[in-house]
Amino acid sequence: MRKLQMVDLKSQYENMKAEIDAAILNVVSSTAYINGPEVKNFQAELEQYLGVKHVIPCANGTDALQVAMMALGLKPGDEVITASFTFVATAEVIALLGLTPVLVDVLPDTFNIDPKAIEKAITPKTKAIVPVHLFGQSSDLEAVMAIAKKHNLFVIEDNCQAIGSDYIYKDGSKKKTGTIGHVGCTSFFPSKNLGCYGDGGAIFTNDDKLANDIRIIVNHGMTVRYYHDLIGVNSRLDSIQAAILRIKLSKLDNYAKARQKAADYYDKAFANNPKLITPKRSSFSNHVFHQYTLVTKGIDRNKLQEFLQSKEIPAMIYYPVALHMQKAYLDPRYKEGDFPVTEMLCKSVISLPMHTELDEEQLKYITDGVLAFVNKN
Ligand SMILES: *Cc1c(COP(=O)(O)O)cnc(C)c1O
Repeated sequence: MRKLQMVDLKSQYENMKAEIDAAILNVVSSTAYINGPEVKNFQAELEQYLGVKHVIPCANGTDALQVAMMALGLKPGDEVITASFTFVATAEVIALLGLTPVLVDVLPDTFNIDPKAIEKAITPKTKAIVPVHLFGQSSDLEAVMAIAKKHNLFVIEDNCQAIGSDYIYKDGSKKKTGTIGHVGCTSFFPSKNLGCYGDGGAIFTNDDKLANDIRIIVNHGMTVRYYHDLIGVNSRLDSIQAAILRIKLSKLDNYAKARQKAADYYDKAFANNPKLITPKRSSFSNHVFHQYTLVTKGIDRNKLQEFLQSKEIPAMIYYPVALHMQKAYLDPRYKEGDFPVTEMLCKSVISLPMHTELDEEQLKYITDGVLAFVNKN
């Protein structure tokens, strides 16, 4: 059996080595390292794939979120609502820009932001909502968009974990996540569903004016060379990463299928086990399984992780500490117990290996390992 990993980038690369190596060498010999044709072509191909008017590549997903908030003109003191159960980057950029992060709890079955909790958190200072499509499926975007419309708020989709996923409307029509809010953000960090071989990110929008401002901001606020109309940042996707991403974008739907197949195997193995709750698949989204995350009941999650480790089965805790309990984000507005669902999840979730190269032998070994512990404890 191949060695188990949370994400097996090596096997994935081996399956397309010739194609990737040629694309990288092509960029190296072209010397068009920054904003070369590979970046322009990737941008156009991603716009086509997502069905969105503008894709603006940038240096990483965290920058994508920061630039989106800068372009929307959010100002210190403005309140931005986001989920208390997410990767830190979402709240980090809000705090860095001097905006006020307002945390709300998530739903216990999908791990995504609770629309009812958003409504309750709105004040006259609220300017934006950042729904995070956690672990690979969409938040309840119709509900979020309706709240935003009612209160005149911007919606910034944190789509770093769900690129390729669809939001499915009540009438059955679909749109890609990240293209429904005023602006969407993604990351091409190597372990993400569409990952490059370094850092990368992108911002999506259908708004021409906003796209123009975003393009200016990622390029030092520069309109005409050496004329700076806005305070910007330097945030670029490099040509080598774009060349790799073009190849991987052409395989993204197949990658999602491979992830869903692994998730189906896990679901079946753990079905009806009272100690393991398998991840819910929302009716309004397909799930592209950035992570396969179980909620454990009545067993010691950390002991399960240690047991799996002893069998060389990697498993990770996403996330062990809620944002409001993180040292850097301690805030007199919040205390332990304020976000009971998030706090319950932090204590009981465990994520199993999830990637595009899992085979049945590996899946059987992993599920046998989990069940061996669960049935004894
Ligand atoms: C990965 C991730 C980010 C940040 O992306 P980077 O490219 O690592 O900066 C932001 N939000 C979420 C939910 C993520 O998973």
